[in-house]
Amino acid sequence: MNVSTSRIGVVALGEIPELIPLSIAAHIQGMLHVDVDVLTSLPLPSAAFDQGRLQYSASRLLQHLEALSLSPWKKMIAVLDADLFVPIFTHVLGEAQQAGKHALVSIYRLKTQGVDHPSGLSLLMERAAKVALHELGHLYDLHHCTDPGCLMHFAGGLEDLDGALLDYCNYCRIYIRDALFRKGVTTDEPE
Ligand SMILES: [Zn+2]
Ligand SMILES: [Zn+2]
Repeated sequence: MNVSTSRIGVVALGEIPELIPLSIAAHIQGMLHVDVDVLTSLPLPSAAFDQGRLQYSASRLLQHLEALSLSPWKKMIAVLDADLFVPIFTHVLGEAQQAGKHALVSIYRLKTQGVDHPSGLSLLMERAAKVALHELGHLYDLHHCTDPGCLMHFAGGLEDLDGALLDYCNYCRIYIRDALFRKGVTTDEPE
């Protein structure tokens, strides 16, 4: 891994198709004009598995990432292929620390077609990018948006996710680009 000045990192936890973290990084770069590093993958911590629910606890995974204190990145998006839950929901596609450092993207429920199928993989990459950009929005303190076509609209399942465009609405785009500019992640002034 090269020493880097990028503020945003993407890391796979456990086994995941190699293209997924790369595609997430490319979408963030393309949409927000910031550099993103893809780190060498890390093991999925078995301690985050909840024996009662037979799912991974999003909060335990976030604590695990915090304990690793991966530097020098200010924001870290971890991608994994395991079912995630938070106490109030049966499952979540992703989770983030609001205005914090760490976010999770689970591809577990995004794979409705086999990944060996070419359109299955491209659909999976698009969905994973949407979840990642949504969670990244939370890391830069964006809240949920009422516009159902916006990436920051709450997506409880695939129907909502597929109904959103792969873009922020004008309001959310200006908000996140302004946050990136203020934090010095980009020198691109929001228009
Ligand atoms: Zn959200
Ligand atoms: Zn919006």
